[in-house]
Amino acid sequence: MPTTEQQVVSQLKQLVAQPSVSSPDPHWDASNRGVIETLAGFADRLGFQVEVQALDPGPDGKANLIARLGPEPTQGNDRGGLVLAGHTDTVPFDEGRWATDPLTLAERDGGLYGLGSTDMKGFFPVALAAVAEVGAAGLRAPLYLLATADEESTMRGARELPVDALRGASAAIIGEPTNLKPVRLHKGIMMQGVRLQGRSGHSSDPALGRNVIEVVPALLAMLDDYRRELAAEHRCELLAVPTPTMNFGCLHGGDSPNRICGELDFSFDVRMVPGLDYADIEQTLNQRLGQLGQDYGIEIGMHRLVEPVPAFEQPAGSAGVSAAEDASGETAGAVNFATEAPFLQQLGLDTVVMGPGSIDVAHQPNEFMPMSQLRPGIDVIKRLIGHHCH
Ligand SMILES: [Zn+2]
Repeated sequence: MPTTEQQVVSQLKQLVAQPSVSSPDPHWDASNRGVIETLAGFADRLGFQVEVQALDPGPDGKANLIARLGPEPTQGNDRGGLVLAGHTDTVPFDEGRWATDPLTLAERDGGLYGLGSTDMKGFFPVALAAVAEVGAAGLRAPLYLLATADEESTMRGARELPVDALRGASAAIIGEPTNLKPVRLHKGIMMQGVRLQGRSGHSSDPALGRNVIEVVPALLAMLDDYRRELAAEHRCELLAVPTPTMNFGCLHGGDSPNRICGELDFSFDVRMVPGLDYADIEQTLNQRLGQLGQDYGIEIGMHRLVEPVPAFEQPAGSAGVSAAEDASGETAGAVNFATEAPFLQQLGLDTVVMGPGSIDVAHQPNEFMPMSQLRPGIDVIKRLIGHHCH
């Protein structure tokens, strides 16, 4: 194996060995500081100016890494630099279902097996190898390495980036696994809870209470009408599922056949295509749920189960998309998963999702990064650095 690839494997081994699960379940949720510190060390050795942005107090709190190489960012609109971005956290894992220890990188059959190897700790050593080969000397615009916390749970790391954290950069590459194909579009997602509140009572006389289970058919009919409207009005042919979707996910309520059901929780998700704003969906649904509550004489309230992730679209032909297409030799497309791209785009960055490995093996036992993606990944990123920073 050539020295560069050996170095990538050795760095990935160190990153995988640092547990960094993020999860809404506190039993699983852990700090990502080990990965941040390890990456900070790698970046420092290449000459990056390293800054750790603590999201929580204390040495074990979550953090982002913002590292810059090349010239000081200039004032005003004189931009052009590039951000190489990724998340440091992984999803939880089923240890018993892995063939090897998920935190010990294992090399076999042309693959590097380990938790987060492809989603997406593997991107970092590949990006750093590209930087090492290009060198800092010729950079005329800043080159950033950005490593975020909590992408797999709340996307808090990307949401809480300071607006001026990436000064002097005009484009970003998020190295999520796309087999090195540029992606300029994905759906957004919102997860909402609805609570129906009536009045419980003895089932022998229905007039003693307000049974919220009786309202469920009308609730589902209202939501079904709304999703049909959304599907008729919004469409994006680049997506495998071209319309917005709404999934009815959970329904919990009642406790006994002889009690009027006074309370019920229902939850659903909506996956928005670009152009469909979650605030508009919330507004319409709040109005229609309010009407439903009035019609049935019950209280209905909706709340966010997690903060929404907006849909993402970088226009075809933008400077960043064209550069990514040139660097990879592929036309930019769409993916089915959400990323931090809308948050980087909100910072004014021309953003493209593109990285080594395949999402098909992510979030499951025996996740791996194919060795065959390392050299092409390094070369694609080198071309991007050349385009944006030279
Ligand atoms: Zn990911």
